[in-house]
Amino acid sequence: MLPARLTRLIHLLSRLPGVGEKTAQRFALSMVANRELAIDLSQGLHDLAEFIRPCDVCGNLAEISEDGDARCQICLDQRRASALLCIVQRIQDLMAIERSGAMRGRYFVLGKLLSPLDGVGPEELPLEKLRARIQSDRISEVILATPTSVDGEATALFLARELEALGVTVSRIASGIPHGGELEFADQITLGRAIDGRRSL
Ligand SMILES: [Zn+2]
Repeated sequence: MLPARLTRLIHLLSRLPGVGEKTAQRFALSMVANRELAIDLSQGLHDLAEFIRPCDVCGNLAEISEDGDARCQICLDQRRASALLCIVQRIQDLMAIERSGAMRGRYFVLGKLLSPLDGVGPEELPLEKLRARIQSDRISEVILATPTSVDGEATALFLARELEALGVTVSRIASGIPHGGELEFADQITLGRAIDGRRSL
């Protein structure tokens, strides 16, 4: 019924999270009606694929520089406390904590959580990279801001033991984040208090 190229675009759009077939169709048709938006979007997507990747240091999103490195704005910011490190699961969690304004240090994005039930063990965490970072940046305090879910707590406990062995002060964000709650959806004040009220493990 539709031109093949349009069908292909609808199929691609429907692969995005939260976008079903109908929404994908609506997006595609609205771009047929707005060619300028279609061109701007295609340029934006091209730039994303070409120039954006996780920061080499912390895993936050960064722009790739001319020499091929990727350093995010937080890692480049000299005013940030370099000895204070906040460990999060995902970039969205980092963004939520940044919005709270309570974190003056830097970050490390784990990517994964331990999950014994799903067979995700310690070997799948980027431990070597984390240890190297702690040594090279002379990190003295780590705040564990993994989610308050079972997997998030298990990961925090595991990391606390690993990191304390390196002589680092380790603390866990305070309660206030509902159990199982995603940091991303906590309001800024709650998240700010959770960081200010962190407790040692
Ligand atoms: Zn970074």
